[in-house]
Amino acid sequence: MSFSPSISGLSGSMAALAEALGTPREGTFAQLGNVFMTRLPAQPLSAPYVVGFSAGTAALLGFDASLAHDPAFAEFFSGNTTRDWPAEAMPYASVYSGHQFGVWAGQLGDGRALGLGEVAHDGARYELQLKGAGRTPYSRMGDGRAVLRSSIREYLCSEAMHHLGIPTTRALCVIGSDQPVRREEIETAAVVTRVAPSFIRFGHFEHFYSNDRVDALQALADHVIERFYPHCKEADDPYLALLNEAVLSTADLLAQWQAVGFCHGVMNTDNMSILGLTIDYGPFGFLDGFDAGYICNHSDSQGRYAYRMQPQIAYWNLFCLAQGLLPLLGQQHDESVRGEAAVKDAQGVLEGFKDRFAPALEQRMRAKLGLQTERPGDDVLANRLFEVMQANRADFTLTFRNLARVSKHDASGDAPVRDLFLDRAAFDVWVNDYRARLSEETLDDAERAIAMNRVNPKFILRNHLAETAIRRAREKDFSEVERLAAVLRRPFDEQPEHEAYAALPPDWASSLEVSCSS
Ligand code: AMP
Ligand code: MG
Repeated sequence: MSFSPSISGLSGSMAALAEALGTPREGTFAQLGNVFMTRLPAQPLSAPYVVGFSAGTAALLGFDASLAHDPAFAEFFSGNTTRDWPAEAMPYASVYSGHQFGVWAGQLGDGRALGLGEVAHDGARYELQLKGAGRTPYSRMGDGRAVLRSSIREYLCSEAMHHLGIPTTRALCVIGSDQPVRREEIETAAVVTRVAPSFIRFGHFEHFYSNDRVDALQALADHVIERFYPHCKEADDPYLALLNEAVLSTADLLAQWQAVGFCHGVMNTDNMSILGLTIDYGPFGFLDGFDAGYICNHSDSQGRYAYRMQPQIAYWNLFCLAQGLLPLLGQQHDESVRGEAAVKDAQGVLEGFKDRFAPALEQRMRAKLGLQTERPGDDVLANRLFEVMQANRADFTLTFRNLARVSKHDASGDAPVRDLFLDRAAFDVWVNDYRARLSEETLDDAERAIAMNRVNPKFILRNHLAETAIRRAREKDFSEVERLAAVLRRPFDEQPEHEAYAALPPDWASSLEVSCSS
């Protein structure tokens, strides 16, 4: 069966893409059926146009850059063609629940996202999802839309994260429209097409747990195991093994976030991917001047999701996931002890978070400092750097990037990093100890610099860079979105022609506020 060419009159690569989406396949999320989702078309978006397009994401799906030039591209990825799709291919909004800011929020669900189905390419399968495609049965009070501002931010950041080597959903494109959307001010609507192996969240499990739907809970867990963690089937308790996979991938993800200074902003359980992907880019931010207590989300008045809180919040969220899986756990134990044994098993697996996270972060910190060997006291050295950075609000990204220029022999290369610290004397105390530590390493300065520059990015998505691209895009100049995206696709390269993108934020950036509103 292929539904598209005959129905929506597509041709060329768009027809091929639509056909790929319409190709029946075993084990798709959509096949889980209507307990999990509601099928419905997107709401029409007037006169859509292409704002951003990722050739890299298109390549994942087996398409090249010409895809975006197809006259039907913007219509297709605005969701406008979906009303003509046959029932069996209709997009779907999935239902999930979750804990928001530490409080049980009950049912949430895809309030503005629609799954389009899967595309298989090169042995991999990807689900496509439109975000901002209109109201669904899970929209609650929302309008089902996403604004241009947040859509550009999601597009840029998911591309940036991927190229930093951090697991994330990808973005294929941003489609804009002049259609007005009301937020604090009137803005315009946009739709991002996200691409990921799966969009299943912790909250999907919590949903069926809280609704006492053990059958659906099991179907969901079986789907994830079958598709992504088939080796779990061999375990004594496959569902405990699944929990363990979530614990390990989330711990790894958090180590990566912390090491690059990424703050998610809304680590609610419905924004946590079962595959350990970064998902749902809202009021995220990268650290500029180092502040462990940095809160990127203006709406997070308590600082629940502050930078330094993220690992323990991830652990808390995993706890919610474990609770959601509890009815499935411990089936290998004798009935009389099952409940208690399952809780114990889950607790044991959750403990594994700390065992995974701490060494993962330590290993990344060692690489960031350019240390190839492990010595007692390395953690103290790293922590002392953070203390001096904190006291001086030294720029996170530039501190680590410029540290590569410090020589193990003398202070000749100190200036670029030293100049980031107001209290030069405090920095000098630290850097002399650092130099002493470097002298115990066999790599020479040049070799160490190369290694460090591979892990310490020069370019990150600073708020003011996104803001500049957004302001231009509002005036219909989309060139800065793509220019910035291109810079962020090579975050570790020097790109001397793009020095301005690596600079400290300008003064006006300090007044930028990023809220939950998107
Ligand atoms: P978020 O904070 O973006 O992760 O969203 C939390 C929940 O609110 C999810 O169920 C979203 O689908 C829903 N939501 C957010 N914004 C909107 C909107 N404009 N219209 C409908 N639902 C929304
Ligand atoms: Mg969300």
